[in-house]
Amino acid sequence: MGARAVFTIPPKPMRSIVIHYAEVGLKGGNRHQFERRLQDRVRQGLKSAGLERKVSHRDRRLVVQAEPGAEQARIIAVATRIPGVAHVMPAMRTEPELEALKAAAVTLLADAPAGTFKVESRRSDKSFPLTSIQVSQAVGSHIADHAHRVADVHTPDITVRVHIGPREAFISAHRIPGPGGLPVGSATHMLGMLSGGLDSPVAIWKMLRRGATVTGVHFHNRTMQGHAVIEKLEDIAGVLAWSAGKLQLLIVPFEPCQRAIVGLVPPAYRMIVYRRAMFRIASRLARQEYALGYITGDSLGQVASQTPENIHTIRAVADLPVYAPLIGDDKVEIVELARRIGTYDISIRPHDDCCSFMISSNPATKTTPEQMDEIEAGLDWDALIDEALERVDRRVIEPDPAVLGA
Ligand code: ATP
Ligand code: MG
Repeated sequence: MGARAVFTIPPKPMRSIVIHYAEVGLKGGNRHQFERRLQDRVRQGLKSAGLERKVSHRDRRLVVQAEPGAEQARIIAVATRIPGVAHVMPAMRTEPELEALKAAAVTLLADAPAGTFKVESRRSDKSFPLTSIQVSQAVGSHIADHAHRVADVHTPDITVRVHIGPREAFISAHRIPGPGGLPVGSATHMLGMLSGGLDSPVAIWKMLRRGATVTGVHFHNRTMQGHAVIEKLEDIAGVLAWSAGKLQLLIVPFEPCQRAIVGLVPPAYRMIVYRRAMFRIASRLARQEYALGYITGDSLGQVASQTPENIHTIRAVADLPVYAPLIGDDKVEIVELARRIGTYDISIRPHDDCCSFMISSNPATKTTPEQMDEIEAGLDWDALIDEALERVDRRVIEPDPAVLGA
């Protein structure tokens, strides 16, 4: 008790946002790095949203002070987009005392929707005089008496969560899931191949969630595609940047390559050669950008270029691992995730696809690398790659505040 009295306790309960991360697999020094990185990401995210806030790291959670209303909603919108965040709870912060918790519970539930409740408690301060179960029982019966709600431990409408730490306690009646995963920067750097379609932004998001940092790369045929696709990609990057921190976007001119391919390769094989050309150019880019892999939105069997044979033929020219996290996903799952992360509405805006340029309506579905090596033999790759890399357009895309809503 004596130690507790040293800390300054706020005179009345304070409203906070408590940010939890999953602890699975985190040990030793890893944990500290993870925590520091996540704290930085949350601070940066809030700054991008115009909220310069102190993000405290206490007792295996991050805490941001915020009054209910628009500001809390905005903090929640930011935090639930950040990889590494398991869930976010608007909470009341009190003294680590039972009476304070009981009073806070009643205040909290006055704002909550009607319905039954249960209380779940955890203590990280094991010197607290009551067990977790005793805390739940005491707070629960106080709620029943003073907030006039019925307890239901099996299917409650509201779960009231109490956490008692050494210096303070938190109580919350609402928990919003975040993406989970690892903070961006935990894994290596990769090039994310962004087409303008629905799949590739979702694939990149999944790899951000595994901690990769990503530079977006788009191969652009200026004469074929016009500017609409670039605006689309910038908008998509503005959404992904809430998860990534900020996103660099490289626009690589693709028309000289495509012209050379069209002059030499029969229509049925052009799509495959376009995709191989992308990986050949990307190999050089990866070295420049210190990237250790590529991300694509391929999903097995979705289109002619995604048969197992063609995927093999295309990847044969990639010099680094190709990560295709949607490979086993169905379109409905990809669409659902695109909606959840906020790229769907942008992705469905019409755009011209560079890979539909001068291809056959009946593309080859079973190619081999050897067959393509032979067909491509007349192409001067070094010259084509040099030409493409001379005019790469680099953009740095910041998180777009418009996507957070009002
Ligand atoms: P998406 O919905 O992402 O366009 P898709 O199902 O339409 O994918 P393809 O168009 O065959 O499939 O492309 C497969 C993958 O190749 C894309 O997800 C993307 O990662 C990459 N890709 C295709 N076109 C481009 C491009 N112009 N620039 C960069 N990457 C591309
Ligand atoms: Mg596409």
